[in-house]
Amino acid sequence: MKILEQRIKKDGRVLGKDVLKVDSFLNHQVDPELMQAMGEEFATIFSDEKIDKIVTVESSGIAPAVFAGLALHVPVVFARKNKSLTLPENVWTADVYSFTKQTTNHIMIDHRFLSAAENILIIDDFLANGQAVEGLLKIANDANANVVGVVIEKTFQKGRQILDERGVRVESLARIKGFENDEVIFL
Ligand code: 5GP
Repeated sequence: MKILEQRIKKDGRVLGKDVLKVDSFLNHQVDPELMQAMGEEFATIFSDEKIDKIVTVESSGIAPAVFAGLALHVPVVFARKNKSLTLPENVWTADVYSFTKQTTNHIMIDHRFLSAAENILIIDDFLANGQAVEGLLKIANDANANVVGVVIEKTFQKGRQILDERGVRVESLARIKGFENDEVIFL
């Protein structure tokens, strides 16, 4: 998606060898017009699928997911990160290791908001090693929901390969091949 690539080039900041900061337009300050365009793009890409619900993880996935939900006219559910020691009842759960934060989050979705035979579209801000999407896939499997697809991608990490092997359709709006001298190189 050209406008997203242009925005990443203009405002993205490369951190170390494998992290891109997009906090000025995606996951701290949010550009609603860009989110809307991204939501519409997701809706076009997935127009051939029956989608009942969009599922994401708090907090960075929420903005693109909500705009995709608006464009597809479906509800959006975000998995919460459980911060208390006790687990609430009636929740689907998964553990997700975050390589950017180097911690494991316990994510959960209330049974009321995900049920069997629902076709869900998983949307997240980044696909890196695939841990966040795998956590959502586990929850979707536990709930017997059917999974459709995903995200924005760093192709030099292993997330895409893991999801391809599972037969999950992955669609990304920008595909980053790598970083060279703090420049983003797209595929
Ligand atoms: P994965 O679970 O695929 O390894 O990583 C995806 C999650 O980690 C996303 O939810 C995202 O929040 C975070 N993440 C992974 N790579 C990056 C990155 O380069 N920049 C930012 N801002 N977040 C990232």
